[in-house]
Amino acid sequence: MNNLDNLEKLVSLCKRRGFIFQSSEIYGGLNSCWDYGHLGVELKKNVKEAWWKCVVQMRSDIVGIDCSILMHPDVWKASGHVDSFSDPMVDCKSCKHRFKADDIALDKCPDCGGELTDVRQFDLMFKTFMGTVEEQQSTVYLRPETAQGIFVNFKNIQSTSRSKIPFGIAQIGKAFRNEITPGNFTFRTREFEQMEIEFFVKPGEDMKWFEYWKNERFNWYLHYGIRKENLRFKEHAKEDLAHYAKACADVEYRFPFGWSELEGVANRTDYDLRKHVEKSGKELQYFDEETHEKYIPYVIEPSAGVDRSTLAFLADSYEEEEERVVLRLDSRLAPYKAAIFPLVKKDGLLEISQDIYKNLKKNFNIFFDEKGSIGRRYRRQDEIGTPFGVTIDYQTKEDNSVTLRDRDSMDQIRVPVNELVGRINNKLNM
Ligand code: ATP
Repeated sequence: MNNLDNLEKLVSLCKRRGFIFQSSEIYGGLNSCWDYGHLGVELKKNVKEAWWKCVVQMRSDIVGIDCSILMHPDVWKASGHVDSFSDPMVDCKSCKHRFKADDIALDKCPDCGGELTDVRQFDLMFKTFMGTVEEQQSTVYLRPETAQGIFVNFKNIQSTSRSKIPFGIAQIGKAFRNEITPGNFTFRTREFEQMEIEFFVKPGEDMKWFEYWKNERFNWYLHYGIRKENLRFKEHAKEDLAHYAKACADVEYRFPFGWSELEGVANRTDYDLRKHVEKSGKELQYFDEETHEKYIPYVIEPSAGVDRSTLAFLADSYEEEEERVVLRLDSRLAPYKAAIFPLVKKDGLLEISQDIYKNLKKNFNIFFDEKGSIGRRYRRQDEIGTPFGVTIDYQTKEDNSVTLRDRDSMDQIRVPVNELVGRINNKLNM
């Protein structure tokens, strides 16, 4: 089970400790928009690095890309988003609240019992205008997914990286959707970050790769500390599939508000590349040099949310104990790897501590705290998930050793200063 019984506790910790703030808070906030503070940025950066390491760095069949958010409007016509990226919704005629048609069981407003409008399609893409002269401006869209940037660059990437099928292209970046029902903190927002892979395969081999990527991605969450009992697959029924998909499975996490999607793995077939061939008139086929076959590859897409996985890592690591709140974050994801504490500020201990701090900082993100009792300083770090506490005391002056405290077990051992880098590294390379 999740240790976190309600999301509010996490929202409050995130605000109190500087992980996540409401956007434009001094103006009353902007619905569903969030700002990441220092600890949030570090955590989110580590989540993205963990993903990139696993899907790009450690493999030899995936390369990276970083596309612009604004793209030619024809991209979204070809992909089908202009015509069909919308949600059916209804409005209440009395209280004006808006609901997803799928979420309404009765034909009355669930909030006030008022009469509802007919179902209308609600466009999920954000529009904006490009150009400086008002009359000559053209409408462009903020991308609702990063995937299309990969498809339209398929030829550029394949030919410059000399990749052979099967191979993939990975991208991390912002996406925007004018969601009807944003909510649950950072779970569903209108501006969010995605981590997407488009993995190109030979038609006929697609379902094998679909299964492969389902497992890979499921295991990634386990590898970074999500408990198995809080993770599951949800296979989509044929009738629930998106217009481009042949098969789809979601990796779901048991959030405090219920099981919800973390990542979708979809078999997008050759739909997108084929549509771009039709619309652009350009060749996007792949030529297999060995078999001399020419074909449009099929695509398996594991598409994850940075914000959602960050929220899941936070929720899964949250634990309340009698005397402390602790985030048992995987050390690789933790914003700080260690905190340095001089026992007292006098007798040269402050200076020795600062030297150790500066030295460790060359390798890791390290925090320095000289204020308050040692116990309080440990607690403050437990609450933000720092795996190690390093205390410098009078014995340090004699034998150059420090106390190393483990966040999870709270065990304390004596270690030589010159072993610190190695010990922290060991923890990070588990
Ligand atoms: P949902 O049904 O939960 O809105 P979706 O099925 O529309 O999600 P996809 O189009 O499969 O989502 O997008 C891939 C991933 O991008 C999702 O699994 C999620 O992690 C992330 N994502 C999508 N929409 C949002 C959003 N509004 N806010 C935060 N993350 C999102």
